[in-house]
Amino acid sequence: MNHGASESKLPAWAPSGGGEGFATRIVAAVPDSADSVVCTRKGAARHIDVAGLEKRITTGDRVALAQAITLVESRTEQHRVLADELIDRLTPRSQPSIRIGISGVPGAGKSTFIDSLGLNLVRLGRRLAVLSVDPSSPVSGGSILADKTRMDRLAREAGVFIRPSPSGGLLGGVARRTREVIGLCEAAGYDTIIVETVGVGQSEVVVRSMVDCFVLLTIAGTGDELQGMKKGILELAHLVVVNKADGENRVRAESAALELERALRYLDAKGEDEKPKVRTCSALTGEGVAEIWLAVEACIDRARRRGDFDRIRRSQNVSWMNDLLLQLLADRCESNKQLRSMRAAIESEVAEGRVSARRAARMVVDEMITGWRDECRDEAHNRDALFGKKRGVGVADLP
Ligand code: GDP
Repeated sequence: MNHGASESKLPAWAPSGGGEGFATRIVAAVPDSADSVVCTRKGAARHIDVAGLEKRITTGDRVALAQAITLVESRTEQHRVLADELIDRLTPRSQPSIRIGISGVPGAGKSTFIDSLGLNLVRLGRRLAVLSVDPSSPVSGGSILADKTRMDRLAREAGVFIRPSPSGGLLGGVARRTREVIGLCEAAGYDTIIVETVGVGQSEVVVRSMVDCFVLLTIAGTGDELQGMKKGILELAHLVVVNKADGENRVRAESAALELERALRYLDAKGEDEKPKVRTCSALTGEGVAEIWLAVEACIDRARRRGDFDRIRRSQNVSWMNDLLLQLLADRCESNKQLRSMRAAIESEVAEGRVSARRAARMVVDEMITGWRDECRDEAHNRDALFGKKRGVGVADLP
C-alpha cells in the first residue's frame, strides 16, 4: 500500500532518515478524490479495513490516524460511508481533552509559537495533536505547508501528531472536516488539540465554535495596534497574545498589550471573568510561553467553575450537527445530477420573476426528498435481494 510518504514528498526540513514514525510525514491531501494513503486507486475503498484502522488508531499508530483523517476528508460517497462507520466506532473511545484554537495573521509567529508551546506541553507529559489549516496554500500533490519550515522541533517528538489540512476553500478557511478530525485525535489518545488557522475573518468564528480556549496571536504594529484586527474578532478571544516581545521590539510589544487591554476593558456584555486576557511572549526565545499555557489552563478552570465548559461543549456538538445537516443538503444539491439541472432551470424562472423564490426553493426540496426516497427504495431492494427481507430495513418498511 502506498502511504504517500515517499522520501520525495517529505518536507524539506525533515531530518534524513526521519522514517515511518516521523510526525509530519506527508500524507497526500484529497480534496475530491481519495486515492491517497487509504487506497491506491479509485474504487478500492472496499479494501479499507475499518475495524483494523480503529484498532491501530486506538493503539497510537500515527500512520493509521493520518490515513483515517484522509478518509474522513475524502468527498467520495464510498469513503463517506466508511468514514461514518469509523467515526461511529471511535466516538465512544474519545478521551477527555483540551481543545485550543490559535489564530493570527501570516507572520504573527503561529508556527514558532506552537513549536515552543508544544515542547512545553510535551515536557508536562501531554500528548499533543496540532491541526493546521492554511486556506492560502495549494492543496494538490500532497500536504500543504510542505515547503515551509514549521514546528521542526515539535515534529521530532514522539507524543506529537501534526497534520496540515487543506481548507477546501470552505468555512472561512477552516477545513470542513476539522471537527471530525478533532474526534479522531481524541480517540487516538491525544489529550491536547491545537487547531491553528490563519486569521481571515470568518475562520476565527468557526475555530472558536470548536475549541475550549481561543488564542489570538498578534504582533505590535506601527502605531495603531488594533489595525487589521476587527473589534468583533478581538471579542472572540479568550486570550490575546502579543508575540515577538524580544530585543528591540519588547517595549513596543508591551505597549501594544497595554493598548489592547484598554480596548478590551470596554467590551460590554461580558463579566470581568470572561473578558479576554492579554499577555506578551517571545515564541522565538520561549520567554513567557509557559505563562501563556498557565493562562490557557486558568481560562479553562474559570469556565469549569462557571459550569460553562461542559455546557459549551454540548452546545458545540449540537451546532456541529446542524452545520453538518446544512452541509449535507448543500452537498446533495451540488452532487446530484438531476437536482443540479432542475435547479439551473428553475433559477432562470426565478431570475425572470416567473416563479417566486419561495416556491422554487420548496420545489427543489420536494425533488430532493423524492430522489432520496427512490434511492432508499433501490438500496433496500438490493439488500433484500442479497440478504433476504428479514435483515434490517426492508422495502416494506419504507414509506
Ligand atoms: P506564522 O506565519 O504565523 O506561522 O509565522 P511564523 O511562525 O512562520 O513566523 C514568521 C517569522 O517571524 C519567522 O521568521 C519567525 O522566525 C519570526 N518569529 C516568530 N516568532 C517570533 C518571536 O517571538 N520573536 C521574533 N523576533 N521573531 C519571531
